[in-house]
Amino acid sequence: MNDNCLFCKIIQGQIPAAKLYEDNDVLAFADINPQAPTHFLVVPKKHITGPDAAIETDDSMIGKILRVGADIAKSRGVEQFRFVINNGADAGQTVFHLHLHVLGGRPMSWPPG
Ligand code: 5GP
Ligand code: ZN
Repeated sequence: MNDNCLFCKIIQGQIPAAKLYEDNDVLAFADINPQAPTHFLVVPKKHITGPDAAIETDDSMIGKILRVGADIAKSRGVEQFRFVINNGADAGQTVFHLHLHVLGGRPMSWPPG
């Protein structure tokens, strides 16, 4: 828990969010500013700023985020989706608690902006 972290506050229930899935390790909730018909975030309950702060003992947690993101998408009928993890401001990161974006429900272009 980081007292200044928005996503830690969502995890703690101090800020409301539209939760899609929760267990001991991860929480998934709808993005407040969706960029696609399906757009949700999967976060570890452990506060970690981003992938560049991960250590070896985080390996299973990071793998779980990917697996949970895919399972939620499929359970909502979204078979084709994009995963995005921004690391650092230049990459587009605005909330410094590791999160997987899961986007789907429309065709995606490449390269990203
Ligand atoms: P980033 O830009 O750091 O990769 O992604 C942060 C995401 O968090 C953005 O897509 C933004 O819309 C979302 N977000 C920011 N504040 C809130 C909030 O209070 N609630 C929810 N559900 N999502 C938020
Ligand atoms: Zn946090």
